[in-house]
Amino acid sequence: MALLLIHHTSPTAGSRRVAVPMPQSDNENSTFTPRRHQAAPPFAMPRTGGELRANLTSIRDTFSNRHHSLDFAYSHAHYLRNRVLAVGVIFVLLTPLWALVDATMLPAELLCTILLARAGLLAGLLGVLLLAKVSREKIGCIRVSAGMLLALPAVFYAVILVLLPSGETRQLTGYAFIPFLLVAALSIFPFTILESLGAGIAMFSLLALAQMVDGSWLTPEGLEGVWLLASLLVVSLSSNHFQLSLLMRVYRQATHDPLTGLLNRGALTLHLDKLQAWRLQQHPNGSLPTCAVLMMDIDHFKQINDTHGHSVGDRVLAEFAQILIEQTRPEDSVARYGGEEFIVLLLNADPAQAGRVAERIRNAVDQHPFTDHELRRVPLTTSIGVASLRNREAPQAALKRADDALYDAKQAGRNCVVTADATPPAPERATRSPGLA
Ligand code: GH3
Ligand code: MG
Ligand code: MG
Repeated sequence: MALLLIHHTSPTAGSRRVAVPMPQSDNENSTFTPRRHQAAPPFAMPRTGGELRANLTSIRDTFSNRHHSLDFAYSHAHYLRNRVLAVGVIFVLLTPLWALVDATMLPAELLCTILLARAGLLAGLLGVLLLAKVSREKIGCIRVSAGMLLALPAVFYAVILVLLPSGETRQLTGYAFIPFLLVAALSIFPFTILESLGAGIAMFSLLALAQMVDGSWLTPEGLEGVWLLASLLVVSLSSNHFQLSLLMRVYRQATHDPLTGLLNRGALTLHLDKLQAWRLQQHPNGSLPTCAVLMMDIDHFKQINDTHGHSVGDRVLAEFAQILIEQTRPEDSVARYGGEEFIVLLLNADPAQAGRVAERIRNAVDQHPFTDHELRRVPLTTSIGVASLRNREAPQAALKRADDALYDAKQAGRNCVVTADATPPAPERATRSPGLA
């Protein structure tokens, strides 16, 4: 599949680029199949945290990053980068200090080899720091720098073991701790369990090499070392799981609405900014994939609260959100914008297509059997304003036009769709959508 470079601006640190699959086709049927009928997204735009599953603390979510949304991956990478920088600085400071210990303990003929290897380690660690520094939120680079940070001391030890004559390694102070130290260091990072398992296996190999060199392999003393390393690895894996779970929970609470599970207003706004930045970066000449904003407001919702109580109102809001999820594709974003106001951000949708999706949502809400606690029918409708994202406008301007169109829909009697951009790029004036004709 062809790859497209997407450029995002980050709220915290400059910019980032990621490769994502480019859309293969854009025919109307595949583009607008709602997500409950669709196997795979045809347009892999940056997804929001909406793809995170409810049971965020499960092992499946911390085992690998396969199920992580792209937005969570950015938060994760940001956190990982801070750890790499902090631990990297500690390793850089420790390396020359440890050389002083070597200088006092080792004979001159060994010292030269060790110091050369240490200089190589120091240069590598400085390279890792530089990589982490310039990576910003490039997820792949940050993962590589984290892996190198742990791999470099391991390689350093392996080189020493191979280079020194057998028996000489016993004179090295503290070196035998390196595999144990590195396995313990895994717990500092929010690695996935799979990543830590990989690193753990590498450390077992390093320990095996060290034990073969000093002759303790498969002896009671050697097995004690293996047992200790295994115990430390289990502790580190548990720490990874809990760190990542916590990170996911905090991420979810910061970006999602607790009642409906949809994105909250802040996350939606951020996502819209990223989307517009990506469109401008990738298609400065105007041949952009079209995107549309649907703003909807439940009609006379206050009456539902007043008549049936707030608990029924809450249930209605949650069911309304579910309808929006079902009627959109996985790559679209659905957010609760305010009390009973919702936003759908449609990717790759021209105004006519957006109008049709809006009309489908309106109809689905109209037909849905909302009920109160006694299972009596609660009639519910929604008004929808639709606006397309123009090439060089601030996303807030599109929201404003959608809001104006929503106002027109309310004025037109509610339970209807009004499209603000029937024929782009010219129209400013709101017109009734074709779906309502
Ligand atoms: P309109 O058709 O003009 O939009 O009328 P409306 O009654 O829907 O609009 P209005 O702004 O007058 O009332 C919105 C109501 O939504 C008022 C508020 O109490 C209610 N609301 C907002 N958030 C929640 C919530 O989380 N749960 C419940 N149950 N009600 C909420
Ligand atoms: Mg309202
Ligand atoms: Mg309302």
